[in-house]
Amino acid sequence: MIEENFKIEFGINKIGILTSVDDAIKEEQYHCIECDSQLILKEGKIRQKHFSHIPYQNCNGETILHKTAKRLIYDVITKNRKNECSINLKIHCDNCDKLHIFNIKKGSFSDAMEEARVENFVCDVVGYRNGTPSLGIEIFQTHKVNDKKKEDLQLPWIELKATDVISNPYEWIPTQHRLSRNLCSLCKIESNRIKELCTKWNIDHKIYSTINKINHSKYLASTINCWKCKHEIPVFWWKGVPFAKEAPPQPSPWTIKNIFSKAFGGKYFANTCPNCNSVQGDNFIFLNSNSPFNKLPLDNGKIKEVNIVNEVRSVNHKEDIEDIVKIMFRGSREW
Ligand SMILES: [Zn+2]
Ligand SMILES: [Zn+2]
Ligand SMILES: [Zn+2]
Repeated sequence: MIEENFKIEFGINKIGILTSVDDAIKEEQYHCIECDSQLILKEGKIRQKHFSHIPYQNCNGETILHKTAKRLIYDVITKNRKNECSINLKIHCDNCDKLHIFNIKKGSFSDAMEEARVENFVCDVVGYRNGTPSLGIEIFQTHKVNDKKKEDLQLPWIELKATDVISNPYEWIPTQHRLSRNLCSLCKIESNRIKELCTKWNIDHKIYSTINKINHSKYLASTINCWKCKHEIPVFWWKGVPFAKEAPPQPSPWTIKNIFSKAFGGKYFANTCPNCNSVQGDNFIFLNSNSPFNKLPLDNGKIKEVNIVNEVRSVNHKEDIEDIVKIMFRGSREW
């Protein structure tokens, strides 16, 4: 049963096209997408233009929302295929987490299908590229994509909220997704720059990730200017920094070397400059508030050792207690 104040914003016209109430005309007949019963177009002076549904019908508001959104997505992909529209995918950047817009250009999709079977699942809508499934779209209003589907479905997928789709089918704001990789334009530029630098210094791109998330790779890459020769050089974070006494995971970037530090009072594995071979202090790379990896977790067991506090101080040439306390609390909770 449909609740009395449930708004029906779309109806199916005579030739089966889903039509917005804004585009509906008095002369035409419209039907409910779910139960096929006739909708009455009402254009009151007080209430805005709306469809009214015969109230005693055995029809369900949730299903209307779901089916309408599904059809809208199908229609938008079909329009995209015909070069009639682009689609904005609003998504968080993998690296900086900021919401950015990825524009799906006109003609990106080659086909769309509702209730399409992919692998062992049925997706609400599947978008095709060059004839092969490229994106699964799941619409939810009350039921989210279940965990099994979430994990097992190999096809990249997004989940959209039915009411979001209905309010703007050209703007997709996934509530969950699995898209292989998505970086905002700034992070993409930065990522390419780091990769170029690594290639220049013969560091295999398979060893590291430029995305600053610890589950992406054993090594996370960034850049600094060498304090000595001033060249821009790649530097790396790995589990166990700072002042790692244990050998880093293999294969490792060749610039990470076991070096002796007088201030530290022993050897540890450190980033070195590929150009001039000088050691890049761990405090510059990991600890200071302006260091490239200042948001990544640290091996805090070692941080609490006094000699590390000494190392930080001896290089900083100032007793910045606050900074050291902050560093201590960064810890390794995320591991
Ligand atoms: Zn109905
Ligand atoms: Zn970003
Ligand atoms: Zn150098």
